[in-house]
Amino acid sequence: SRQTGPGNFAFFIDDLEIDAKRVLLLDTELRKAIENDDFQLYFQPKVSLSTKQVIGVEALVRWKNDKLGFVSPAEFIPYAEETGLIIPLSEIIIEMACNAFHVLRANGYANVPIALNISSIHFQQPNFLETIQKILEKNNASAHNFEIEVTERTVLENSLEAVSKFNRLKQLGFTLSIDDFGTGYSSLSYLIRFPFDVLKIDRSFVQHICSSEEKQGVVDAIIHMAHRLNMQVVAEGVESTQQAELLQEIDCDFAQGFHYGKPMPLGELLQFLAYWEHIQ
Ligand code: C2E
Ligand code: CA
Ligand code: CA
Ligand code: CA
Repeated sequence: SRQTGPGNFAFFIDDLEIDAKRVLLLDTELRKAIENDDFQLYFQPKVSLSTKQVIGVEALVRWKNDKLGFVSPAEFIPYAEETGLIIPLSEIIIEMACNAFHVLRANGYANVPIALNISSIHFQQPNFLETIQKILEKNNASAHNFEIEVTERTVLENSLEAVSKFNRLKQLGFTLSIDDFGTGYSSLSYLIRFPFDVLKIDRSFVQHICSSEEKQGVVDAIIHMAHRLNMQVVAEGVESTQQAELLQEIDCDFAQGFHYGKPMPLGELLQFLAYWEHIQ
């Protein structure tokens, strides 16, 4: 019951209690889900703006819980990062991606790499490289079939060891992408120091390119800078034909977004890939 005056204080306490209860439940349920491998992997296609071919897919984790319902990764990933649960969770996700790779290969899509989102906390683990290699070996998969997406935070928080870690990942055969480009606070100099292959422009820049000259200018500048540094560019969050056409005009390489397809389960992805080949 909402009240004015001193009642606001009671209301505020109520809110805190609700938050605390939810966090407690989230914690218990997340640990259970990790114990039981109770997650799903969805896949969102990335399309070449020039050839219109699907050049890869991004793996995005999904969690549906009996008590909490559908929980967005935007809620449980940061919580998993805070508590260290991201490490076992990430290992489950990499295993699921290996399984997906085998299904793709069996259906004739061995050349569609799967991009994994790797959290800074996981990347920082001293045994990160060994762990990821072990999971791939155990599942008979090769680094060449995967991309690793990291955010600017990873680069910022690990600058000393990170360069050599990224170089070793590249030697293993992984493609390296910088995710959410433009939303972090790090300096541009890391783009020269780190061996990224792909730069993903954050949706917040792509969103208004058709209505804002300034946004278009920024995106255009990012694309040309990336090309000068021998990186390819993915525009995230492409939702319309107009955006796709404009991005192609300003030399963007690839696009990802609801305009092509929402993140979908593996079975739907197979249908999508077959349909996509058919309409080209
Ligand atoms: P992200 O890596 O930037 O992933 C892209 C997000 O944008 C996804 O949200 C995707 O569903 C959404 N998206 C894609 N196209 C469009 C579009 O055209 N319009 C709009 N409005 N949204 C679009 P999602 O799946 O909810 O994931 C949110 C974030 O959670 C991800 O952002 C990523 O940071 C994190 N995340 C998701 N899966 C994983 C995972 O497996 N591991 C880790 N470490 N983080 C993950
Ligand atoms: Ca991503
Ligand atoms: Ca992103
Ligand atoms: Ca994002």
